[in-house]
Amino acid sequence: MIPAVLPTYNRAPLSFVSGEGAWLVEADGRRFLDFGAGIAVNALGHAHPDLVRVLSDQAAQLWHVSNLYTIPAQEALAERLVDLTFADTAFFTNSGTEACELAVKMARKHWFEADQPERTEILAFEGSFHGRSAAGIAAAGSEKMTHGFGPLLPGFTHLPWGDHEALQAALTGPGEERIAGVIVEPVQGEGGIRPLPDACLKGLRDLCDSTGALMILDEVQCGIGRTGKLFAHEWAGVTPDIMMVAKGIGGGFPLGAVLATEVAADGMGAGTHGSTYGGNPLACAVGLEVLRHVGEPAFLDAVSRKAGRLRQKLEGLVAAHPDIFESVRGSGLMLGLVCRAPNVDVVKAGYGAELLTVPAADNVVRLLPPLTVREDEIDEAALRLDRAAASLASHAA
Ligand SMILES: *Cc1c(COP(=O)(O)O)cnc(C)c1O
Repeated sequence: MIPAVLPTYNRAPLSFVSGEGAWLVEADGRRFLDFGAGIAVNALGHAHPDLVRVLSDQAAQLWHVSNLYTIPAQEALAERLVDLTFADTAFFTNSGTEACELAVKMARKHWFEADQPERTEILAFEGSFHGRSAAGIAAAGSEKMTHGFGPLLPGFTHLPWGDHEALQAALTGPGEERIAGVIVEPVQGEGGIRPLPDACLKGLRDLCDSTGALMILDEVQCGIGRTGKLFAHEWAGVTPDIMMVAKGIGGGFPLGAVLATEVAADGMGAGTHGSTYGGNPLACAVGLEVLRHVGEPAFLDAVSRKAGRLRQKLEGLVAAHPDIFESVRGSGLMLGLVCRAPNVDVVKAGYGAELLTVPAADNVVRLLPPLTVREDEIDEAALRLDRAAASLASHAA
């Protein structure tokens, strides 16, 4: 018999009842150190007092009004994002995949309004993840995500990850006149914590500038302070035309956004797009408070400092357990342990040591702690990972 909840998830037998900072408490009372943070969602950890306060205050005042009316918190959040980034304008969604839908629509509409309606094709990269909507799975293109869901949304071409020559050939060779934009994660998350080198992002910007293609960055997982900058592309010193944001921006409340330049967004007038819930007062009150913290240079400096400590600890684990771990990669507090043992076994052994991590493609274990994690908690996580690795090694022996 089919379970009451559609069985699309491969769930661990854990059920958490409360949380505080980087800690989650299981129904049986065990305290887990949370280095998954809801897959990079709980940027300020669990039950952050400031987030609890703004959400409770807003809940007592007004939950929801339609986008038929002006929503002051939404205007304030958009203005804050415009102040902090390349963007001239923002649209709010409830999720990353909805942001993907709009990013694709916006790019195509831009060219339609520019009297080049044939420019509909989006270049994307293998190993990417852009969400589970029709546009999201078509953009990712992998067999795993698209199998059985055809016909897929047309208009996506997939290139090998980080292959500048393939990108250049696609943007300047036959068919280039049909390309609307290029979509890429500056650091692939689900794909196995694979950062795009700064030189690649710069090269992509140059190619987009010379061909007119719109540069669309998916910063759903790597944005909002995760890499030690507010957005990961800032490390490369370039800016996109369109950017998808979600996960960390709501700190656990469902919120996403598309940020764009005025030019890229020029096709999106009244009536072209909308959302019932996107940017509602509850979500925007929380989003503003998240940005009040993460937007501070001192907060971002602390992320980088703590990231250095975590990386050093992980390098130590690789050296101590060469049979279990192979290497460390990633950026900021978005780190991946490339494993020699099956990554899902490492994650499971972590559960045994009361540490939460997240598997990713390429046999990687992701470490995505809350950005507010303390240094002693990083040390504790390393101890627990060490214990997990030792338990795997003793099983294998
Ligand atoms: C999680 C994720 C998405 C999808 O976000 P949802 O909120 O799950 O729809 C899209 N892109 C990237 C890079 C992600 O990590």
